[in-house]
Amino acid sequence: MVERRLTGMIAAAAVLIVLFIFWDVFRPAPRPVEPGSTAPLRIAEPPPTPPPQNPPPPEATTPTTTSQGTAVPAGPNGREPSYLELMARSETRRRIRSSGSTTYIAEMLEASGDSMLRRWDNRQTNPIRVWFAPTHAANYQPAFVDAIKQAFGQWTNAGVPVRFDFIADSSNAEVTVKWRIQFEIERTGQTDVTWDDDGRIQGAVITLATFDPKGRPMEPQDIQVVATHEVGHLLGLDHSKDSTDIMFPTAKVRDLSDRDVRTVLFLYQLTPGSLR
Ligand SMILES: [Zn+2]
Repeated sequence: MVERRLTGMIAAAAVLIVLFIFWDVFRPAPRPVEPGSTAPLRIAEPPPTPPPQNPPPPEATTPTTTSQGTAVPAGPNGREPSYLELMARSETRRRIRSSGSTTYIAEMLEASGDSMLRRWDNRQTNPIRVWFAPTHAANYQPAFVDAIKQAFGQWTNAGVPVRFDFIADSSNAEVTVKWRIQFEIERTGQTDVTWDDDGRIQGAVITLATFDPKGRPMEPQDIQVVATHEVGHLLGLDHSKDSTDIMFPTAKVRDLSDRDVRTVLFLYQLTPGSLR
């Protein structure tokens, strides 16, 4: 009786051993995870992007004259200056040096990459044609146009030898004033100026935002300050380091300072173009 029980136990142990061996051999292969199982789904990744066949051209080397705007020279500048032109440039540099800090022309030239004076020709008898682009920008107010006209007026009243004509037709406009809701960067206005090889400004686009970078709606008086600063760029001015000037990068004053006026009047006495 005992023997039979022992034999039975041995037989059972042998079966277990066989089961172990066979379990290992015939163990089912792990199944791939299927959708709907509790295992996390793998999201198909897009195939790696092949390198572009035609890489984009390198950034054009357009000089940036101000943090408020970029300026694009109108044409190639391959002409060699004559002896007389070099003498004239030397005289202009001397006049700028002797003006000291009564103007910020020297600061402008220091900050510029091309040592170029830019300005419009005398345009008192043939006014510069300014066109206001229509807009559906949120928070746009018709009062903004009057605010901008007052900004232009601040400069012409200061005695700059240019006049502005606000025209209704875009076809022969030299200056366009246009709108956007907001800039992506800390800015509420931008002026892009185009000039020829001799530093004579040919045209400009002033872009103004209807909301400031924090999302606050601009009021007409805010627009006037920004526009006064941008018209300074349009006339050929760059930034001043003095916060009491309207041409300080983030204008803190509402009106032109004496130094703004002296600087623009001085600029319009000088021959535009390269000073190198
Ligand atoms: Zn500026």
